[in-house]
Amino acid sequence: MRGVYWAKMPHYGEHNVFGHQRDLPRWFWDGDTKMRCMAHAIGHSLEYAHAHHIHRLMVIGNFALLAGLAPKQVHQWYLGVYIDAFEWVEMPNTLGMSQYADNGMMATKPYVSGAAYIERMSDYCKGCHYDKKDRLGERACPFNSLYWDFFARNEERLASNPRIGMVYPQLRKMSGEAREALALKAASLRDNLDAPRYALIYSCPRPAPAALRTI
Ligand SMILES: Cc1cc2nc3c(=O)[nH]c(=O)nc-3n(C[C@H](O)[C@H](O)[C@H](O)COP(=O)(O)OP(=O)(O)OC[C@H]3O[C@@H](n4cnc5c(N)ncnc54)[C@H](O)[C@@H]3O)c2cc1C
Ligand code: SF4
Repeated sequence: MRGVYWAKMPHYGEHNVFGHQRDLPRWFWDGDTKMRCMAHAIGHSLEYAHAHHIHRLMVIGNFALLAGLAPKQVHQWYLGVYIDAFEWVEMPNTLGMSQYADNGMMATKPYVSGAAYIERMSDYCKGCHYDKKDRLGERACPFNSLYWDFFARNEERLASNPRIGMVYPQLRKMSGEAREALALKAASLRDNLDAPRYALIYSCPRPAPAALRTI
């Protein structure tokens, strides 16, 4: 991380290979989302100024990349939130490892997943407002359509990556209608990142921050 930072600055922070431009949703500042995994990972990060690697990479960073959030804003959020965030270590972790914004200079593949991985690695999905197995319904887990749509949109760039494995063969087995439905669902999620809010499910052994307790 340190080597990449010092070798590649001052331009490293400008990388944005996918051209993602979306602003961070408001709930990045209070954890108020119906997605149980995100509510907990963000709520915990805001309260303790710390989260373990997988929360940073495979929950928050995963969602940020799938949702097309601007990598510079994502970087600034991590820099502001975490107690261990010195720019030389935070920026390559965020822009490179988590957002793949440097086109793989730092990481060998984009670290993204649908709900299946989060379900396997945690107990978040049980009790979540969303259905971890659904891709298209009203309560479908947002990670699912966003995941498939991310790979569909970036096929040219990513299909030859040997670490991506079965994603493209699976995608090619889907019908045109199925791919179109996923693209529409994902676009609608990306266009409505701030809504609906409320229904916070935040559980933490210590009292939640004041902003959360009022909800
Ligand atoms: C998006 C994102 C942003 C991050 N921002 C920071 C940051 O600002 N500052 C920071 O120190 N780490 C950062 N990390 C790396 C990592 O998440 C933290 O070092 C880790 O959470 C520390 O706690 P742990 O108990 O999970 O460490 P463990 O996984 O148990 O690792 C043991 C120690 O190894 C070091 N380490 C392991 N992996 C990394 C790594 N990828 N980068 C740097 N050190 C590592 C840490 O000092 C850690 O305490 C970031 C990771 C991601 C995905
Ligand atoms: S169902 Fe989706 S949003 Fe809910 S906890 Fe699981 S991965 Fe997160």
